[in-house]
Amino acid sequence: MKLIVLGAPGSGKGTQAKFITQLYQIPQVSTGDLLRDAVKRENALGVKAKEYMNTGNLVPDAIVLELLKIRLMKDDCSKGFILDGYPRNITQADELAKITEIDQVINISVDHGLLVKRITGRRTCKECGAIYHIEYQPPSQEGICDKCSGELFQREDDTEETVKNRLNTYDKQTKPLIEYYSSQNLLQTLISDGTIEEMRQKVKLLLENRFH
Ligand code: AMP
Repeated sequence: MKLIVLGAPGSGKGTQAKFITQLYQIPQVSTGDLLRDAVKRENALGVKAKEYMNTGNLVPDAIVLELLKIRLMKDDCSKGFILDGYPRNITQADELAKITEIDQVINISVDHGLLVKRITGRRTCKECGAIYHIEYQPPSQEGICDKCSGELFQREDDTEETVKNRLNTYDKQTKPLIEYYSSQNLLQTLISDGTIEEMRQKVKLLLENRFH
């Protein structure tokens, strides 16, 4: 099962991708996570990527593609994967088509007004990557992960100014992918206007209908 989860920053695509990994035992491949990991390790690639990420711009296609190819070659991707955050533009989608087929694209659609609020309130666990929201999904103890007691932090690019630029980038470069994958009959859109749990049910139903 080879899936793509599409959506604007803050649409909850990462949260839903994590849910799908539990449902179908396939890995979530997040280019944002791969890039953040490179930034943390401070290697040449990470230093270059950081400039783009901190201003809310896309990292050059060649860098991301290189990271992605290495990741998809790992054993755990042999039965499938969920791409989260890739592709981000038409060039990346064309490159992806050269290296693998895709079975289904799930497009998560959210009202733009809600997105800024969602992103600026987002907190992530340093240890296990679990995602919280200070208002919508707070941890039981402030700043501490419920799952592993790790420390929660705000991503450097989740601040208000950067978020606005990331949404702009999404509109200009990523949104055209909706048409790109619709025209190949690969895309289904789910509207996210309720709770995370309601969204999970929609995702589950879509995948059950599509793959059983
Ligand atoms: P994300 O965690 O998916 O929101 O990604 C965080 C940041 O990483 C983005 O704002 C981009 O700067 C960069 N990034 C992630 N995926 C890609 C991609 N496929 N192409 C270019 N830049 C990316």
